[in-house]
Amino acid sequence: MRFRAILDTMPVYKPGKRVVAPDGRSFKLSSNESPFGPPPSVVEAMRRAASEAHLYPDASCHRLTEALADRYGVPYDHIALGPGSVTVAQQLLETLAEPGTEVVYAWRSFEAYPLLADVAGMTSVQVPLRDETHDLDALAEAITDRTRLVFVCNPNNPTGTVNRTAELIAFLDRVPEDVVVALDEAYHEYVRDEDVPDGLTLYRERPNVVVLRTFSKAYGLAGLRVGYLIGQGRAAEAVRKVMVPFAVNHIAQAAAIASIAAERELLDRVEVVVKERTRVRETLLAQGWEVPPTEANFVWLRLGERTMAFAEHCAGYGVAVRPFPGEGARVSIGDAEANDAFLEAAGSFPR
Ligand code: PMP
Repeated sequence: MRFRAILDTMPVYKPGKRVVAPDGRSFKLSSNESPFGPPPSVVEAMRRAASEAHLYPDASCHRLTEALADRYGVPYDHIALGPGSVTVAQQLLETLAEPGTEVVYAWRSFEAYPLLADVAGMTSVQVPLRDETHDLDALAEAITDRTRLVFVCNPNNPTGTVNRTAELIAFLDRVPEDVVVALDEAYHEYVRDEDVPDGLTLYRERPNVVVLRTFSKAYGLAGLRVGYLIGQGRAAEAVRKVMVPFAVNHIAQAAAIASIAAERELLDRVEVVVKERTRVRETLLAQGWEVPPTEANFVWLRLGERTMAFAEHCAGYGVAVRPFPGEGARVSIGDAEANDAFLEAAGSFPR
């Protein structure tokens, strides 16, 4: 058998783990999940859809596409769906990859980007963060004739930092028209900084800009896998074309439609997380930590060589964090009890 050589060097995606403290307590703050389960109306929609599970789902995701077009005031044919925005990103790479082509992104950023590039057969060009934030000048300078795609993760996973309107527009103005810019806005609903642009206002004037969004975070449907891309006709059409048939399952489509209808309730919950985020960050600062301002549902601690020791220390309190060895730890904002457990762990970490 002749498997692709890239399989030997590809990074492996590590899902967030659960840990249990000696007293049985367990808080999973390693995957940026919502601490809330779906509201009753969404559970009811899933229940109804479950009884139709013997039928194939709507391959075109017609009702969900319609609901999204309506919700965001965008044309129906500007939307492409997939099973989670990570898969939509994969679909996007599949539409762009040719031998020798490059995808440019900040690093550290979302850990799936290098993996997706490898799977697509594209070369990764990683541009170091500056002050924990995308260095947009350096990203623009990294673009060559071989570049087909640039990811801009705003807010950035795992640092929570943002790029603001003026600098992002100046960056987009520098990107050649034949290079796609994917604004990965998985955490968009958590942004409170008014100077952070909504990608949906940027893509309208720019055929090469696409926006990636997800139902996994603010909408609390991580377990069902629904994400989407909004971009002008040609980009969205290409991404729809490469979707594996029936990839977005029937229950997921029903839940996403019901979640749009229940949006007020869901966004109220986001507000609870945002308030907790402020409390967590301020407490960490008071404990003497350096924590970059975050617009997402997590905080970032640059711990360097002490990262794994910190993760183990937190595990002793039943708190699973996401360590990046040698770099730092990302800690999701959970409910008040989970956040208290984390703050207790952080406060007692020997420094
Ligand atoms: N983009 C970013 C920046 C993320 O952090 C995540 C989730 N970790 C995703 C995309 C993927 O989300 P999903 O596939 O669940 O929609």
